[in-house]
Amino acid sequence: MRESLRLRLVLWYALVLTLVVVSYGAAVVYQSWRSTTAGVDAELEAYAREVSKALRPVEGGRFDLELSPEAAASFFQREGDRPYYVIWGPGGELVDQSDPNLHVVPPGNTAAGRRETTVQAASGATVLVGRDIADLRRAEWGLFLNVALAGLATLAVAIVGGWFVAGRALAPIKRISETARAMSGGDLNARIAVERTESELEQVASTLNDAFDRLRLAVEQERQFIADASHELRTPISVMRAETEWALDRDRTGQEYKNALNVGRRATLRMQDIVERLLALVRADASSDARQRIPVAVGTLMEDVVTWLAPVAQERGVQLSITGDRFTVEGDPEQLREAFNNVIGNAILYNKPAGAVTIGMRLAGGTGRVEVADTGIGIPADAVPRVFDRFFRVDTARSREMGGSGLGLSIARSVFSAHGGDITCTSEPGVGSMFVIVLPTLADPRHPSSLNSIQPAADTRARD
Ligand code: ADP
Repeated sequence: MRESLRLRLVLWYALVLTLVVVSYGAAVVYQSWRSTTAGVDAELEAYAREVSKALRPVEGGRFDLELSPEAAASFFQREGDRPYYVIWGPGGELVDQSDPNLHVVPPGNTAAGRRETTVQAASGATVLVGRDIADLRRAEWGLFLNVALAGLATLAVAIVGGWFVAGRALAPIKRISETARAMSGGDLNARIAVERTESELEQVASTLNDAFDRLRLAVEQERQFIADASHELRTPISVMRAETEWALDRDRTGQEYKNALNVGRRATLRMQDIVERLLALVRADASSDARQRIPVAVGTLMEDVVTWLAPVAQERGVQLSITGDRFTVEGDPEQLREAFNNVIGNAILYNKPAGAVTIGMRLAGGTGRVEVADTGIGIPADAVPRVFDRFFRVDTARSREMGGSGLGLSIARSVFSAHGGDITCTSEPGVGSMFVIVLPTLADPRHPSSLNSIQPAADTRARD
């Protein structure tokens, strides 16, 4: 394909160049012939005038010709292409001719290979002066051959040069397609050598390299995700296997079977939770394209989430409060509920006993902002940027113990970004964390008011 592109480029280039060279060569040869014949004609005309002036009629219808010595020398020289003259009398009778061997052709019928001029003399005679132009034709033919050879040489050099230059110019395309092929063949580290490409192709190459980088990152993240998911599922599966093997090992008491089944049930619930979260993550990732978009009143949604989490907060003695503006966004209510549930649930779970979770909602310039602040254990500075990564947990043992899988915040981030929003985190270990969610809002005249402040968790439940 690249060869055919190169061939086509060179063929077009050669065609245009041939047209230029041929027209230029033709113009050179034509102009040269024109100026040669014009010179010959002027010379013949001068001779003809000189002959007609030198012609004197004498009695008996005869003429006397007294040529100047220079003219006579030209007409009667021995060497070279001399001019000739032919004189006819007023009656058309041949009076004289400089070359007796010349086959005389009447005026107006120039013989091939000659150039002739006729003038009417005052004496009534007709004077024709001409010369053989075979030598001029030969010289012109020589010029034509030289021009043709020079043109052919120019064409040959230009075509070979063009082929070489086109090859060099197209070589980066070959490298780019080879790299793309290597990449699609599984070599995720293949990159185009950008410094070796030229001009516009350099930009193409670096754009493709960026795309390759992102592709590699995506593939690696996907691999990591699968590895992490398998690792997560392996623990409950191992527990189930060990427990069933232990139960089947020999006869057990009814209580022992019951205990084993309970362990099995917990492991199954854990697996179910992980699988559901994985599905939620996949749904959130895919939902930016095919999202069920309806107006969602975030104030009401937050009240629902707070109501839902109130028993957990109460159990841990954590105070839940929600204040601020109501606003409406466009999106999938179930996904948004799950995302807020994960963030607020974490704020309760990773809190201190008798701690507090404050949810502040603000509406400013088409953007709704939800701040979830807690007085919990906080997150170390180096872990803050990673809390949204899949399967990331600051304290794996503690998180597992609380039923965490390290997926809650990555689900939240996927959901919020699929809704055109974002979630960020700031934290101070030992003091608390704050998660800020921003979402583009819909103007909603039905909910212009502020939220009623919900104070203790128990109150929230009472509102149901
Ligand atoms: P998990 O299911 O383990 O809670 P998440 O993705 O929701 O997973 O959270 C990732 C990790 O971030 C948690 O394991 C926890 O270590 C930390 N984390 C999340 N929210 C908080 C918070 N409010 N306070 C302290 N640590 C938190």
